[in-house]
Amino acid sequence: MKSMYAKVIIDQDAKALDRVFEYKIPEDLNVSVGHRVYVPFGNRVLQGYVIEKSAECEYAADKLKSIISCIDEEAVIKKELLSLMHFMVTKNHLKYSSTLRLFLPSDMREGRVKELFETFYLLGAEKDVAEISSRAKKQLEVALYLKENGKTSSAVLSEKFGYSAVKALYEKGLILKEKEQVLRAPSFTKMTDKRVSLNEYQQHAISSICEDKTYLLHGVTGSGKTEVYMNLIERELSHGKNAIMLVPEISLTPQIMANFKTRFGDLVALLHSGLSAGERYDEWKRLFSGQARIAIGARSAIFAPLENLGIIIIDEEHEQSYISESNPRYDTHDVAEFRARANVCPLVLGSATPSIDSYQKAKTGEYQLIELPVRANGREMPVVETIDMMNELRAGNSGIFSNKLLAELVNVVNNKKQAMIFINRRGYSSFMRCRDCGYIAKCTDCDVSLVYHKEDNRLKCHYCGKQYHVLSRCPKCKSENIKQGAVGTEQVANKLKEMFPDVKVLRMDNDTTSTKNAHQKILEEFKNAKPAILVGTQMIAKGHDFEDVVLVGIVDGDQTLYHTDYRSSERTFQLITQVAGRAGRSQNEGKVILQTYSPKHYVYKFASNYDYKGFFRKEINIRQTAQFPPYTRIIRILFSDINENNVRELLKICYTEIEKLRARYGRDIIYLDAMKSPIQRVQGKYRYQIMMRLNLPTADKIENESFEIVDKASKTSVFFEINPQNLS
Ligand code: ADP
Ligand code: ZN
Ligand code: ZN
Repeated sequence: MKSMYAKVIIDQDAKALDRVFEYKIPEDLNVSVGHRVYVPFGNRVLQGYVIEKSAECEYAADKLKSIISCIDEEAVIKKELLSLMHFMVTKNHLKYSSTLRLFLPSDMREGRVKELFETFYLLGAEKDVAEISSRAKKQLEVALYLKENGKTSSAVLSEKFGYSAVKALYEKGLILKEKEQVLRAPSFTKMTDKRVSLNEYQQHAISSICEDKTYLLHGVTGSGKTEVYMNLIERELSHGKNAIMLVPEISLTPQIMANFKTRFGDLVALLHSGLSAGERYDEWKRLFSGQARIAIGARSAIFAPLENLGIIIIDEEHEQSYISESNPRYDTHDVAEFRARANVCPLVLGSATPSIDSYQKAKTGEYQLIELPVRANGREMPVVETIDMMNELRAGNSGIFSNKLLAELVNVVNNKKQAMIFINRRGYSSFMRCRDCGYIAKCTDCDVSLVYHKEDNRLKCHYCGKQYHVLSRCPKCKSENIKQGAVGTEQVANKLKEMFPDVKVLRMDNDTTSTKNAHQKILEEFKNAKPAILVGTQMIAKGHDFEDVVLVGIVDGDQTLYHTDYRSSERTFQLITQVAGRAGRSQNEGKVILQTYSPKHYVYKFASNYDYKGFFRKEINIRQTAQFPPYTRIIRILFSDINENNVRELLKICYTEIEKLRARYGRDIIYLDAMKSPIQRVQGKYRYQIMMRLNLPTADKIENESFEIVDKASKTSVFFEINPQNLS
């Protein structure tokens, strides 16, 4: 028999090991592509993944070692995911091993999986029952119960009849014991499945979304996108296909999960960070085995082990959480696109506020645009009233709430309704603002706001690294009342409790939701209290559908606007639209009070009219003029090391080489510089970065050449980020 060889990726972090190794496959070992295996390596035994099998080998056959054994019975990584691995490694400059890890539940890799077994009892032969003495009444009851209900878990029997009766029967050999694996399933609240008749826009969307293309579903908040998703999934299931639906982690609300579980039952597997490792593994396994056919979850659910996909959906496609910013770095859109094309199925990107990038792609024909322009329940969008906080200041109100917002809150309380107060947490990294005239300190070169760095008491531009002295006086109005800082949820909630001592005031943010199910509990509590006020961060901006919310207050709409990012306006527009969409979702009229220090900013004008298209036109012009994405590509190359001299040395070597590219590419390199990262040390590692901004036509080439330079110079891994979401 001819010998077979395997190409194996070793499951180790070391950069030097991150390549393909060849092994011989022993004749008696049934190894397939996608199997996890044990292999000899030096004098150790390591875990690896078989990514290819062939009858030929590239190295001298007699020098090759043999695979020791398989770890699992089956190949755990499906073929399509292996091709995805190659795609991601190349496109995002990733390591094989860290990419492969995305495809398996962490517990499985670390060999920590504990499958959960439960004991069941069942009846032996019929005649046995007759042997139970009539005096053993409990035992008789157990036997009768088993006769009627069949196999029953030990836990249930013990609770009903007491463990001693069960034990006695078993010891007499009158009933049989079986161990069976049970799958831990995440809990959810069951609801009634309300079937609605779809409106013409929804119907049109569903019938249009049928080809192997990417669709941008632009539907206003409350337009019934979820119903469209469910119908699409239903259709694909009926064709024997499977589905993946992604939602942002923060909108993985009990409500969404319950909706899908109620309609699709056990065909749904949920994958999100709130699950225990065991639950996660069991849900993964249900997908792997085909028991579950719909994967719903946050970003990582895009790697669900489902074959034969009929549709992939990314809800709230503009959300930042779809971009993985930690190792391995990737954009879920790219992964979804790859899987959709590999399965020849539609990819649906849904949002009320599509990202500028995606909408531009729809404009240029790369995506198919589909619109849901009206709310499904026929209600109007809530009226947005913009409050100029500078006016409030001038009128002597220096508090958190404008007089208008206070008056509306009083109304809500008197009418026993509900309000949501939104505070922007991204505003925490602070910028400097003049409290008298509203002036914000900006970089003279980049037109983004400067960030205050406490450690060296300076203002810095996160795009170019330029540093500025802290201002003690406003350059515009000469006031000394110029400060950095932001308000937090706790402060606001306390204030409200003080003002409305008899009203239920709840708070939802990272601090109050760190424990399991805390999220759900707060929402339950809110749902059942009237009047009530929910104060929260981004977490309350999405997905919730509360009938009695008649007022949404946005305390400081500016805090994303002056964030240090070319996407600031885009984010602000998205947030305001999402938050506003929480109000007036039922027969109750809704109202939104938006407080800002810059009421004339174009973002507020477009957002308060729900004019996405107008906003897009304005914003895309600005991007083009200022040479920002999607017209250019920003690359950050992040170096980090425990030893500061090492990073600086490496940075210098790489930078010198990359700078030489300028001779060849000239003005296609719009910007290039090396600097300390804004957050200079993380977990004891010093961080330095090279920032570049590139013209699109040559961006791929320059990116790849830079990667090669860095890869050659560095023994450890260096991170490449494309159009980073966050420059800290
Ligand atoms: P979106 O996700 O677009 O913001 P949802 O999917 O949450 O909107 O829908 C908003 C509300 O409208 C939900 O309560 C939903 O049940 C309801 N709904 C959806 N489609 C219809 C329809 N065709 N007729 C009546 N109500 C609908
Ligand atoms: Zn001023
Ligand atoms: Zn700058």
